[in-house]
Order: sequence, then C-alpha cells, then structure tokens
Amino acid sequence: MQKQQNRQKLLHIKEIVSGSIEKRREEIIELAKSLVRIPSENIPPGGNEFASQKFICNFFTESGIESKLIDLTSISELSRHEAYYQGRDYTGRPNVIARYPGSGGGRSLLFSGHIDTMPVGDNKWSFPPFGADISNGRLYGRGAYDMKSGITAMMMAMKTIKECGIRLRGDLLFESVVDEEHAGCNGTLANRLIGFNADGVILPEPSNLKLYIAHKGFRIVHLSLKGKSGISFAGEELSNPVEYIGSLIECLKAFRKKRREAAPVPDIYKYDPDPVPVMLPKLQAGEFSLRIPMQIPFECKLEVYWQTMPGESQQEIEKDFFDFLDEWQKNNNLLPRDIVLEHNFSHRWIPGTGIDRNHPLVRVTKSVAEECLDTEVTVTGAPFPCDLFIFNLYGNMPGVILGPSGGNAHAADEFVYVEDIIKLTKIFSSLALRWCEL
Ligand SMILES: [Zn+2]
Repeated sequence: MQKQQNRQKLLHIKEIVSGSIEKRREEIIELAKSLVRIPSENIPPGGNEFASQKFICNFFTESGIESKLIDLTSISELSRHEAYYQGRDYTGRPNVIARYPGSGGGRSLLFSGHIDTMPVGDNKWSFPPFGADISNGRLYGRGAYDMKSGITAMMMAMKTIKECGIRLRGDLLFESVVDEEHAGCNGTLANRLIGFNADGVILPEPSNLKLYIAHKGFRIVHLSLKGKSGISFAGEELSNPVEYIGSLIECLKAFRKKRREAAPVPDIYKYDPDPVPVMLPKLQAGEFSLRIPMQIPFECKLEVYWQTMPGESQQEIEKDFFDFLDEWQKNNNLLPRDIVLEHNFSHRWIPGTGIDRNHPLVRVTKSVAEECLDTEVTVTGAPFPCDLFIFNLYGNMPGVILGPSGGNAHAADEFVYVEDIIKLTKIFSSLALRWCEL
C-alpha cells in the first residue's frame, strides 16, 4: 500500500517537473546558446574555460543553489596522484561545483560534465563556431554536442527541481570540470580528491540517447624513423627513412589484425564491428617548401592510435605492441644501421572501464529514460574513451553516460538536435527524483 502511494506521489511530482520544463523551453535553449557563445577551448597545456565556469557558477548562485569555483592549483595531492596527467597548466582554470542538499537517507547523485571543448580547428565551418545558430532544429557551434547541451540539461534539471520546491532525500550534485579533452581528466580527478563524490554519476557525453555503461581505453604512440639527411653529390651514403616507412606500416597492419583476432571483447562491445581499431592518423616527412633544401629528410614520423577494451591493462597493451615492433626490427634485415626507430607517447594512457548491466544505476537510468522518451533505450558500450574511468577506478563511484543526438563532434559544424536538450532535461530531472528519492 505504502509502496503504491509512493509511486503515485512520484508520478505526480514527475508530471509537475515535466510541465515546468516544458514551460522553460526558451530558457533552456537560450542557456545552451549562451554556453556555446562563450569559448572554452582546450589547447594544452592551457585552456580558456574561466568565463564559462564563472557563468555557470553565477547561474547556480542566482538560482539559490550553493555553488563555488575550485582552484585546481590549491589541491596539493592532485599533481602527486598516480592518475594525474603531468604537464598541464591550471592557472585560471577552475572547476565548478554545486550542491542541492537532500533531507537525508536517500542516495546521492552527481551530474558531471566537462566544459572544455576541442579547438575550433582549421577546417572551414559553414556556421560561426561561437555563433550558436539554430537551423533545421539543430544548434551549431563548438561544444554544442560535446557537451554544452548536456551541461545545460543538467543545470536546468537541478534548477527546475529546486524551483518546484521539491526536497530530495539524497544530495543532488553538479560539477563542470576543466581539461577533459586531449586525454586530460585532471579536472575530474581533482573533484574526487576534494571528496565531491556521490552514490552514482551520470555524464552527458554525446550518446545519441543511448545508455553507455562502459567506455573504451586508448593509446597513442608517435613512431619515428630517423636516418641520414642530405643529398648525395659525391657518393656519400645517406639513409632515407621514408623508404622504410612502408614496411613499418605493414607491420602495424599485422598488429591490427592480431588485435582484431585476439583482443578480449566483453559482451557489451559485441555489437561493434571493429571494437579495437588500430589507426594511423598522421604521417609526416620533410616539407613541401622551397625554404627547405632539396634533400632526403632526416625523419619520418607516424602516429599510431589504438583503442582498448575494459579490462585490458596498460602493461599488456604495450607489451603486445612492442613485441610486434621488436619482431619487425629483427626480421627487417634491410634496415641499415643508421636508420633508428624511436617512439614517444604523446598522450596519457586511458584504460577502458565499465559497470555491470544489472547495477541499480543502470536499471534506474534505463527505466527513467524509457519513460521519458516513450521508447526502448539501448544499453551498450561507448565507442570512445572518456573520463569515466576516473569515477570507476579512483572515485569508487558507478557511472553511466547518456547524452544528446547530434554530429560532427571534434569537427567543423558540430551540432546538437535542440529537441534533445529538452528531452535530456526531463530525463535528468526524473533520474534525480527516482535515484535520490522523495
Ligand atoms: Zn566530451
């Protein structure tokens, strides 16, 4: 009887909140546009997230929700932590935290988003990257999809719950972190270290309204073949690294084949036709310029990017890779002594992680999303790496990802479907009601 009454009460309050969100459509869209208009590009070692963070902090303060900026440079244990990514600068790059305290006894929930975006890049945009133009139901701009519309939905869900006068039992927390792109994740780590944690976390990474309960890991290595540069006028022996790059690429294709055949793919990634891709995004040797003498280049560089599955360790991943390279060098009798192979890791290692599909956070989020969207929600693994591992491995917090539909993340003409911002605001507010309890 009591259970049924509670259910009725929850339904009633959900309707009130949902109605209130409908009335705030314009406000929600305007908020997303405002966030897109404030650049927060991450260009390591720095980033210009400050203005966005101040804006978000003010939004909460004006809504009567306790909020503050967190200076990362003041957290002494941060740069000593094993998961800290060295070499970044956090001057003027604070995190934002906000808290709507519960009355006690319920589970707490954290809404977590990263405010930093990829740089605009040098590809041509049809819409101004910070214009927040809306066309055909799409909002265009850098960060619109990844992930300022998700952050908007979380901010508005929290504000609406507060303004509807609803008191939750568990705490509802919000954070906007800096430096997640380019494998950063130190902003996310910082808030774990100051104890800003909860019984569950949800991240609005672009997911096209699917529920991701795992994410991939990744490794990037820059390989360099160095030779003897110049041009032979008097029969000098030179070594052109470009001549050996083809054979190195063949070796990496063999590595790709082995990864496809042998990598341990958990059930959650069985849908993916290529769950552990090995890509060669960049190749560089010499320069097509008359500033450079007519000569054989000294160096030929190749970038290798590969993705990994939850459960694979950095040690295993690297051993596999370097075994391949060693084998290549051993078998490659043609490689002259003065051609040298070197490597360096240009980005930190990110492990893949995930939680069980029967975890209560997964069950509740799926059920809430299905009620709000009135359709079945797919539960699967994210096709990308992200900062979720920080929660799973260093925050002792189960986490899921649910974000909007859109396109061109990290590319020109990034966009999000405006209607999805409204849908997400409803899902996030309903999730808070269900998870934190009334
Ligand atoms: Zn993102």
